[in-house]
Amino acid sequence: MLVNKKIIMRLLQYKNVLSRLKKLGFIKIFSDNIADSSGTTPAQVRKDFSVYGISGSKRGGYNIDELIIELNKILGKDKITSVIVIGAGNLGAALINYKFFEKENIKIIAGFDIDSKKINESAPTPIYHLDKMAEFIKKNNIRIAVITTPHIAAQQITDTLIEAGIKGILNFSPAQIKGPEEVIIQDIHLQTELESLIYFVNAAKKERP
Ligand code: NAD
Repeated sequence: MLVNKKIIMRLLQYKNVLSRLKKLGFIKIFSDNIADSSGTTPAQVRKDFSVYGISGSKRGGYNIDELIIELNKILGKDKITSVIVIGAGNLGAALINYKFFEKENIKIIAGFDIDSKKINESAPTPIYHLDKMAEFIKKNNIRIAVITTPHIAAQQITDTLIEAGIKGILNFSPAQIKGPEEVIIQDIHLQTELESLIYFVNAAKKERP
């Protein structure tokens, strides 16, 4: 099936909404409830679910537990995904120490750096020297990596990651990294996002009388 990113982003949003509604005590749920909390329409929710063969009964809606299990299966979140972080500086260390990913079955299992002061192999999430990265990826069958190094190092790290078997990269560095088509690279440009937010807030202020 050709999967479109927008559907996946919506399914992730529905899953988060469902987790919140479950905590509030919901047992059954209707597409209207999910749509209200996701900023979409009930028809869109039903359409997205039908793409993956999820159907609810018209009267009873969906059973929330079954729906969460189904969505987790579709999103590959029914098992733990191990992730590594390259560059254990301000941003990398914050990600490594952010425990809430584990609730979502995402486990950062190691960090890598070139600075000997950052290396700590006995930490709860160990930080190894970059030299050990390729072997670690192969041995642990890691498929996902996060780059939080300065931009100058990012492409070389990308090449090493791909060579070692990484299939998906989340790139926080400002570098435009490149890889073969089968490797998925997602860039997070925090600075640009913030700059555009500032622009639109200022533009809206000017438009107001
Ligand atoms: P930082 O200087 O604190 O950390 C970078 C780390 O990368 C250091 O520990 C350094 O030793 C390591 N490093 C350098 N070359 C390396 C290599 N070849 N292999 C492995 N490790 C290497 O920087 P930071 O503030 O954490 O930012 C990291 C990246 O994220 C930068 O590219 C920055 O532009 C980007 N970024 C940072 C922020 C932020 O809020 N800090 C926000 C957006 C984007």
